[in-house]
Amino acid sequence: MPSSCTLCKRRDAIYTRPYSGEKICSRCFCNSIEKKVKHTIAKHKMLRYDDKIAVGVSGGKDSMALLHILSKLEAAFPKAEIIAITVDEGISQYREEALEIVEEGCRRLQIESISVSFKEMFGLSLDELATRFVYGESKSGLTPCSYCGVLRRRALNNLAREHGAKKLVTAHNLDDEVQTALLNFFHGDPLRMARAGPVSPHSHPSFVQRVKPFSEVLERETTLYAYLKRIEFQSKPCPYASTALRTDIRTMLNRMEEKHAGLKYTVYRSAETVSSIIKSTVKSQDLKECLRCQEPSANEICQACKIIQDQCLGSGS
Ligand code: SF4
Ligand code: ZN
Repeated sequence: MPSSCTLCKRRDAIYTRPYSGEKICSRCFCNSIEKKVKHTIAKHKMLRYDDKIAVGVSGGKDSMALLHILSKLEAAFPKAEIIAITVDEGISQYREEALEIVEEGCRRLQIESISVSFKEMFGLSLDELATRFVYGESKSGLTPCSYCGVLRRRALNNLAREHGAKKLVTAHNLDDEVQTALLNFFHGDPLRMARAGPVSPHSHPSFVQRVKPFSEVLERETTLYAYLKRIEFQSKPCPYASTALRTDIRTMLNRMEEKHAGLKYTVYRSAETVSSIIKSTVKSQDLKECLRCQEPSANEICQACKIIQDQCLGSGS
């Protein structure tokens, strides 16, 4: 016999939260995720009632679920506006399907959808970059994900800014945040943790502030939400994902969470503490403008220009 929901005590439970032991029915589970998103937005003052927000949407479960929740929340704020922005990195037999899913999802939610490709913005697709500089003769030592991460961040910021967005919302979940914290350690760059977190520092007028309303929701719960709400999303993984150190960290954390429920939350809270200590002791670095592209940058030449111009193209972003 299925147990009844711990919260409403009426409907059958369909999910047990391993870290709290709660047994929850479908409706209470979805309500709890929406409530958590609202709470995270309020706690970190992520959005204002009249913000125009650009949501970075990839077509995956997290971003499609977040778009769904934000469009529900937006209904209560007539002065707010949402647009969906998508970056086509140029990954064959992968990104095409995702773009169709984003288009269809936005059409249903009546949200304007805008996209840009690496090819349009930087002159080469990710497949072309990988063929030449990861697997080809001019090996750079970087992985496809290193190119993808830097260029996608730039593309999203530019798209959001060009369309007048006040905030750039991304669907990073708690698992992503914990992986990023550990990646900073593994890359020998723990000070970077000060720049991570649910709200990015608003450190330059050309930099659209980033916020992450899913940062306290586990990945398994964003997935379950998307399934229960019958939200269409792309389930096929990116063909380059296996090359990333992040994937190894993700596998390790999932194994540990299986044995020690709640461990991801513990690491998340520890990362928050370390981040606030760093912020209070290390003077934050002012962003300047890249000498080549004039985009905000921590160094004289930004990372996007470094990988695009120095290594390959000889043309700006
Ligand atoms: Fe880009 Fe790597 Fe993610 Fe694929 S797995 S979309 S290459 S960051
Ligand atoms: Zn630059």
